[in-house]
Amino acid sequence: MFKKILVANRGEIALRIQRACRELGVRAVMVYSEADREAKYVKLAEEAVCIGPAQSTLSYLNMPAIISAAEVTDAEAIHPGYGFLSENADFAERVEKSGFQFIGPTPESIRLMGDKVSAKQAMIKAGVPCVPGSEGELPDDPAQIRRIAKTVGYPVIIKAAGGGGGRGMRVVHTEAALINAVTMTRAEAGAAFGNPAVYLEKFLQNPRHIEIQILADKFKNAVYLGERDCSMQRRHQKIIEEAPAPGIARKLIERLGERCVTACKKIAYRGAGTFEFLYEDGEFYFIEMNTRVQVEHPVTEMTTGVDIVKTQIMVAAGEKLPFTQRQIQIRGHAIECRINAEDPYKCTPSPGRITMWHAPGGPGVRVDSHIYTNYFVPPNYDSMIGKIIVHGDTREQAVARMVTALGETVVEGISSNIALHRELMLDAKFVAGGTNIHYLEEWLGHHQR
Ligand code: ADP
Repeated sequence: MFKKILVANRGEIALRIQRACRELGVRAVMVYSEADREAKYVKLAEEAVCIGPAQSTLSYLNMPAIISAAEVTDAEAIHPGYGFLSENADFAERVEKSGFQFIGPTPESIRLMGDKVSAKQAMIKAGVPCVPGSEGELPDDPAQIRRIAKTVGYPVIIKAAGGGGGRGMRVVHTEAALINAVTMTRAEAGAAFGNPAVYLEKFLQNPRHIEIQILADKFKNAVYLGERDCSMQRRHQKIIEEAPAPGIARKLIERLGERCVTACKKIAYRGAGTFEFLYEDGEFYFIEMNTRVQVEHPVTEMTTGVDIVKTQIMVAAGEKLPFTQRQIQIRGHAIECRINAEDPYKCTPSPGRITMWHAPGGPGVRVDSHIYTNYFVPPNYDSMIGKIIVHGDTREQAVARMVTALGETVVEGISSNIALHRELMLDAKFVAGGTNIHYLEEWLGHHQR
C-alpha cells in the first residue's frame, strides 16, 4: 500500500478521499487554491499545499503545480477525484512519467473512452448495446450524411466525439435541418473541444438514465456493483440518484452488468468506472463511459457495502480486487440528493457565507459534505456543497428517511435546493418511481415561481 497520496481535488470529494486514506492508514496530502484555504479537509490535513489562485485553470487544472506538490511532499500516488483533471489522459500520462501512480485507469483507457466515437466502437466490439447510429465519425459528403440519417430514422442527435458535460449536441427532427445542424455542431466542437469530429445517433424520446458501476484490477478481474438510476436531471445535470433502479427486471441488469464486465476485461480496464446507458422500452443503449469515481458513488456503497474509493486506491497500489462477483450482494435501497448552493427553482448559483449549517442524522443517513457553519462557498467552482444519502430496506423506507433527513437539515446565509428536494420526495410520480430524464425539467416548468 502507498504511504502517501496527493488528493488533486477540492470540496466534498477531497474530504471523501481523505477519509478513505485515513482508513487505509495512508497519509493524504491535500492541495488547495487560495479560495479554499479555509476548507475543512485542509484544516484537518496532516499536510496541505497551496497550488495557486482561485481560478481553476491556475490551480486545480494546473498540471505542473499539482505534480510539483506531489514531488515536494514525497507522495507516491495522485487521486484525481471527479471533474477537473480526472479524465484528462495527458494528465494521467504526465503523472506516471513523473514517477507517480495515477489512481485511475491507464492513459490509453482514458483516451479510448474519452473519445465518444472510439468508445462506442470499442463497446460495439465488446458486445455492449449502443444507440443505433453512424458507424463512427460522420463523413463530409452531405448525400452520405442524409443517407445515414434516413437509415437511422428521425429524430436524430448529432454529437461531438470530444463532447462532455452535456455540450456539443444537437437534435434534428427533419432532413431539411440536417446538414446545417451537422455543420454547426462541427464548428462548435472544433472550437470547444479542439476536435471537429461528430457522429450521429437515434434520438431517444423518453429514456431513463441508468448506469452500471464497475471496479477492476490490473489482473483483469472485474465486477459490477449493480446499477444507479440518475434520471432526475436538469440541464443534463443529475440532482437525485438512486439504486437499484425502480421497476427494471434484475435479469436485465445482470445481463448488462456482465457485458460491462466483459468489456472491461477486453479493454484491460483498471480502477473504478461507470458505463452510462439510456433505457427505453426495455432496452439499454450505451452512451458513454466515465473513467473515474462519480459524484453518486455513495448510493452504490450503501447498497453493496463496498467502499469504492478505498478499492480504487487498493487496485491502484497493485492489489487484487478483494471480492468476486458472487460476493456482491445488493441490499435494500439508497437515494442521494445533491445539495447545491443555488436558487431551488431557478437553479442560479448562490455562493456566499453559510451562517448556519446543521446536518441530518439517524439510522441509514450519510452526509458527505465539506461545509460547516461560517464556511464561505466560493463563487469559482461547482455549486454542489454536499450530498445527503439515505439507505432503507425498501425504496419506501429510503424515501421516508430522506424526507426526515431533509427536514432536519439547516442551511442559512445562502440559498440551497433543499426545498426542491423536499417537494420532489413527496411528488407522486417520483414516489411511484421510474420517471424519465425529462421529468424534472417539466416539473420545474410547472412549478416556476
Ligand atoms: P456528456 O458527455 O456531455 O454528458 P452524453 O453522451 O452522456 O454527453 O449525453 C448527455 C445527455 O444527453 C444524456 O444523459 C441524455 O439526456 C442526452 N442524450 C445523449 N444522447 C442521446 C440520445 N441518443 N437520445 C436522447 N438523448 C440523448
